Amino acid sequence: MYMSTDEIRRAFLEFFESKGHQIVPSSSLVPANDPTLLFTNAGMNQFKDTFLGAEKRAYTRATSAQRCVRAGGKHNDLENVGFTARHHTFFEMLGNFSFGDYFKEDAIKYAWEFLTDVLKLPKEKLMVTVYETDDEAFAIWNEQMGIPADRIVRIGDNKGAPYASDNFWQMGDTGPCGPCTEIFFDHGEHIWGGPPGSPEEDGDRFIEIWNNVFMQFNRQADGTMEPLPKPSVDTGMGIERIAAIMQGVHSNYEIDIFQTLIKETADVIGYEDLSNQSLRVVADHIRSCAYLIVDGVMPSNEGRGYVLRRIIRRAVRHGNKLGAQGAFFHKLVGPLAAIMGTAGEELKKQQALVEKVLKIEEENFGRTLDRGMQILNDSLEAMDGKVLDGETVFKLYDTYGFPADLTNDVARERGLSIDEEGFESAMEAQRQRAREAGQFGVDYSNVIKVDEPSEFTGYGSTSGQGSIT
Ligand code: ATP
Ligand code: MG
Ligand code: MG
Ligand code: MG
Repeated sequence: MYMSTDEIRRAFLEFFESKGHQIVPSSSLVPANDPTLLFTNAGMNQFKDTFLGAEKRAYTRATSAQRCVRAGGKHNDLENVGFTARHHTFFEMLGNFSFGDYFKEDAIKYAWEFLTDVLKLPKEKLMVTVYETDDEAFAIWNEQMGIPADRIVRIGDNKGAPYASDNFWQMGDTGPCGPCTEIFFDHGEHIWGGPPGSPEEDGDRFIEIWNNVFMQFNRQADGTMEPLPKPSVDTGMGIERIAAIMQGVHSNYEIDIFQTLIKETADVIGYEDLSNQSLRVVADHIRSCAYLIVDGVMPSNEGRGYVLRRIIRRAVRHGNKLGAQGAFFHKLVGPLAAIMGTAGEELKKQQALVEKVLKIEEENFGRTLDRGMQILNDSLEAMDGKVLDGETVFKLYDTYGFPADLTNDVARERGLSIDEEGFESAMEAQRQRAREAGQFGVDYSNVIKVDEPSEFTGYGSTSGQGSIT
């Protein structure tokens, strides 16, 4: 049964509304009053205080389609974009939430009913995981939903990852968290990858579609876990992943939204091979960049604004690689707003602003991009080993406005990497010089011309990398 992304969004919200959930609009990508979080990375973020019991709402069940960005902070998928079938910097998370209302049993029932009854997914293609010690969740899946035990995998919380995220979900270093049960879809033997828990699980054959978190704790800064006032439920399903299934394709990049965006990108750039990986990257990046600007983030040299600037520059570099002549990126805002369905409304209202900001950024970076690429390519060719030295990475950053991750992106295309530590120490040396120069009490920031990148004197000290102000 084919469903458009827009239809899936509506079906999900209506399903949970019919189960007594309040439909709550997506919140901003910039978390309100939460300095611990770089960008909204899950549907539960806007309900954090409700889970903690600090905020009372008029309802105990909610559902939303939340825009999320995972391009920095605890959940960072920037380096996955273009390489996996399932990761974006920007995506929409469909979620249902119980604030001390229902718990494991109903959460699992609702998820299963939505997938197999409403969307009519074939049961035999679904697999689930539970937290290793969660016999209760195992029994609900096995006995009540009838899933054979060999398709329920117990997964612990420690696979060596810095945040031990597997089957224990946490939004950040602190805050509400808990064990979870995840639902995977098997895209078939022709795709490389193995079931969850197997060494090949990172392949894209078994794709995680839905995470149901049993919120039970509030993690403190010192690592201790305080029980929440009432056990709750927080779930998240990436709309693009479920759209891929409903549209009979494997990769998120093949769904309606991305097909349109990839085609528009190819048209705007004048490039023909629609399977090119750079087209996917640009199509991904226009979404995060456009929505970050809608939510008030402006490109800058620090914090959230620098993440935005880095994503824009990566997109521009990929466009340039495909032969784009002049600014192209901002031309994708209109097509994006048109294809996003109900999630495109806010973008439509701010389209002119978003286009303007992106165009200025593109043009600024365009001035140094070609020269920087030439230097980078020359350096990569002249290299002996596999790691580009930190001084060169720093020079590209400092003089040509190449964020280190962009340089790394180029190096990675050739199977090479960059010396991040060397880059950091070159950067620190620069800061030190700037501090010493500062002791003479002269403020150069108004004197230095923004258009002359060679005079840029360091991270955050001037707007030489193309501030839009
Ligand atoms: P993965 O293991 O595939 O990286 P995750 O475990 O990090 O996903 P969760 O934090 O559990 O993801 O988020 C809930 C859901 O949001 C996932 O099951 C998936 O459907 C979706 N999702 C997560 N990250 C992304 C992303 N970068 N792009 C698109 N969808 C995503
Ligand atoms: Mg992930
Ligand atoms: Mg996962
Ligand atoms: Mg998950």
